[in-house]
Amino acid sequence: MIVVGGGLAGLRAAIESSKYADTAIISRVHPLRSHTGAAQGGINAALGNIEANKDDNWQKHAYDTIKGADFLADQDAVEVMTKDGPERIIEMEHWGCPFSRTEEGKIAQRPFGGAGYPRTCFAADKTGHYLLVTAYEQVLKRKIKVYEEWFATSLVVDKGTVLGLIAMDIITGDLEAFKAKSVILATGGAGWIYGKTSNSMINTGSGMAMAYRAGVPLKDMEFVQFHPTTLYPTCILMTEGARGEGAYIVNSQGERFMQRYAPKAMELAPRDIVARSIQTEIDQGRGVKSLYVHLDIRHLGKKKIMARLPGIRDLAIDFAAVDPVKEPIPIWPAQHYTMGGVDSNAKCETRVKGLYAAGECACISVHGANRLGGNSLLETVVFGKIAGEGAAKFANGTAEDSGAEPLQGALKAQKEHLRLLQEGYGDEDPSVIREEMRNLMVDKVFLFRNKEGLEEAKAEISRLRTRLAKLRPIMSHKVYNLDLIRAIELEEMLDLSEVIVASALNREESRGSHLRLDFPKRDDIRFLKHTLAHKTSEGPRIEYSDVRITMYQPEERQY
Ligand SMILES: Cc1cc2nc3c(=O)[nH]c(=O)nc-3n(C[C@H](O)[C@H](O)[C@H](O)COP(=O)(O)OP(=O)(O)OC[C@H]3O[C@@H](n4cnc5c(N)ncnc54)[C@H](O)[C@@H]3O)c2cc1C
Repeated sequence: MIVVGGGLAGLRAAIESSKYADTAIISRVHPLRSHTGAAQGGINAALGNIEANKDDNWQKHAYDTIKGADFLADQDAVEVMTKDGPERIIEMEHWGCPFSRTEEGKIAQRPFGGAGYPRTCFAADKTGHYLLVTAYEQVLKRKIKVYEEWFATSLVVDKGTVLGLIAMDIITGDLEAFKAKSVILATGGAGWIYGKTSNSMINTGSGMAMAYRAGVPLKDMEFVQFHPTTLYPTCILMTEGARGEGAYIVNSQGERFMQRYAPKAMELAPRDIVARSIQTEIDQGRGVKSLYVHLDIRHLGKKKIMARLPGIRDLAIDFAAVDPVKEPIPIWPAQHYTMGGVDSNAKCETRVKGLYAAGECACISVHGANRLGGNSLLETVVFGKIAGEGAAKFANGTAEDSGAEPLQGALKAQKEHLRLLQEGYGDEDPSVIREEMRNLMVDKVFLFRNKEGLEEAKAEISRLRTRLAKLRPIMSHKVYNLDLIRAIELEEMLDLSEVIVASALNREESRGSHLRLDFPKRDDIRFLKHTLAHKTSEGPRIEYSDVRITMYQPEERQY
């Protein structure tokens, strides 16, 4: 059993799988360098640990999640996540995660956007880091084999069943075939497709692209989350936990403008609404220097800032030369999360037998059209565990097979592809194409979209693909050949950006994070549906599938 990805989803999957089957993790970076480590604000579960949330329960968590998702989430999957949440948090606590505490010593919980109760458990503003280290310790304890700095390039699928994968040892440059009776993709998000993102440069959507090429459709890729509060201009995240602790967002006139857009929830409206409100203020001339607005936490006082938000204080000082204890923080919206991903059900199964997906690379779908903050870390541990058990049991129930031949064929084909790539086809520089793609996605496929802009993006991506076929020679050295890895990533990211644009163009409505200026209303009659993008030689073929509605009928979102 192989898990691709050493972030929180991959580690939790491997811990579970190792109970039942031989398990290995393949990760392009050391697990502790995975992007989960950057998560700041917290992880949601209806624990009811404080006076203000003593009436909270999984149903209320589910309702907030579904409403936040603009009713596109699959409600059976949301039920699984919100019911299992408390147990997964307690498990992490028992494994040693140093959560922040209430005065009675219980796990502390703070308010987060779109949530009816304070239900976000946190470890100061470094929650992802502590959770990741906690899970990694369990991986070490179980002596699970980790292939660190191995980059998976493709899945091997034969007759609808996964047989393994091809991966490159980044240190030596050697390509190997890994035979596996089941594979879990836990490769994280695709934020690097956008020029403005809070994600790191390893979030290139690799697993999504591998699944897409192996015949699994990508679901709901038009739903890209833009976080309202990232530092200007670097896009480093300023956690929603700051607003949970009481931060204000103000424009150049010092006005708390969320009053105009979400009078009840104010700064704690869901991210899609707050991000659009900020951008509207900037576009209408009420931004500071017409570029950004301010996140103000000064009124919280130094003591609370140092206890609850020390990380963002350090980041603001280091990257914007602003001490939030004394000055407001310049912020603007940036890409943050990929709601779409590998089409998977609530058991993390894909339509390829033996292939599972969990974490940000998967679209199960618990976040629908807009994810609530704190629900993603929860998704990784809940569905990581489910994927681990399912994939291990699938492997145990599969007879020893003769997958050697297709694996060797795939290895040979991949070697040949990389040889040709290194030899070169022309004189196009991959880094130039990459930057043009990233800027294009910000210019045409960002917070506000329309047919004209999306058509232009589609045509431009097609031109970039033509140029991709004329790349200059790639460096030929084997050891740590990042030039080669960047070229492989570019092929993958162009596939994904093409899917995002095609899915956004087809969805002629506005829902959650997807706002079409030319179709400003939600249209449940035509589009209460999941988008499924299938790979074909002519580009993505779009189909739709039903949303599973088991608890709450769609209603108008008011905050
Ligand atoms: C700045 C920031 C702050 C956030 N804060 C919060 C928060 O407070 N609460 C919350 O709920 N969510 C938060 N999120 C979202 C959340 O952190 C992520 O969605 C979640 O951690 C993703 O975990 P993952 O395990 O799916 O992927 P990741 O942690 O991204 O791990 C992906 C793994 O896949 C591996 N990988 C990728 N491609 C390959 C390949 N081709 N071959 C081999 N290995 C590969 C990588 O090495 C890595 O180990 C935040 C996100 C960001 C960007």
